[in-house]
Amino acid sequence: MTTQTFQRLSPYLWVTQSPIFATNSGVLIDAGQACLIDPGITEEEIRGIARFTLEQGASVQTIILTHGHWDHILGPEHFSGVKVIAHAEYKHTIAQHGEAIMRQISRWETEAGILRAQPLRLPQPTLAFESVLHVHLGQYDLRLIPAPGHAADQIAIYEAEYGMLWAGDMLSDAEIPFVSHNLSAYQDTLARLAALDVRVLIPGHGMPTADLVEIRARFDGDQEYLQSLSTQAHAAVLAGKTLPETVEACTGIAFRQPQENAGPHRLNVESAFIELGGICESPVVGWMREEE
Ligand SMILES: [Zn+2]
Repeated sequence: MTTQTFQRLSPYLWVTQSPIFATNSGVLIDAGQACLIDPGITEEEIRGIARFTLEQGASVQTIILTHGHWDHILGPEHFSGVKVIAHAEYKHTIAQHGEAIMRQISRWETEAGILRAQPLRLPQPTLAFESVLHVHLGQYDLRLIPAPGHAADQIAIYEAEYGMLWAGDMLSDAEIPFVSHNLSAYQDTLARLAALDVRVLIPGHGMPTADLVEIRARFDGDQEYLQSLSTQAHAAVLAGKTLPETVEACTGIAFRQPQENAGPHRLNVESAFIELGGICESPVVGWMREEE
């Protein structure tokens, strides 16, 4: 059993990290109100988050889900009656891919030896929004910003006074961008977020940072990677290369932690090939393979 710790990153923000994929959960508290971001992953960790919130003298008002990937949505079932906020696309994600998401959760629970007391039901948002949504937490204004690219329904959360950016599954120190939705949308999203004054950055997975040099380096690294991916995959498609030839042509692209991220890079190239008009025989290519 590991001890759960809560790191305070701004006066209203604590982050706790699960050992599973170094997944971050947020506890935001002001004036006795708490807002949770992606509380997870195990039941024990989620109960720990509930206990921590109570110890701070706050009650949970809202849960914000950054996107519908299975490792981000296991919290709400433990907080009955709490408002759940997600992007409108989340509903489509659940409607279209709900069965695949349930299979992924069941597979993980089986591997982890977890027995459920109640059957799994995917959380439905009580509030779903299209463009930008402002959520008030005490004196703070949380701006929920659509951030597609990794997932169609992904959002980022920004608070201007402390320059806090909760980045969903982006801007990690451990992962490269997982372009499992759309490459050009991912580039647009990063360009928009890079224009914000960010002083505290929390990725969905990996280490949070308040180091301005490190924050800029993460933006630059991910933007340069996506630009290289786009340029080289595009050139390959225009030259009439096949999918394996395109994968080969994109082996020279630099990215962080090359061993751990070789698999995701390959999936990125395959997905970019299809997005940019490449033709191949297999119907299931790139990140689509992960949904099986
Ligand atoms: Zn994700």
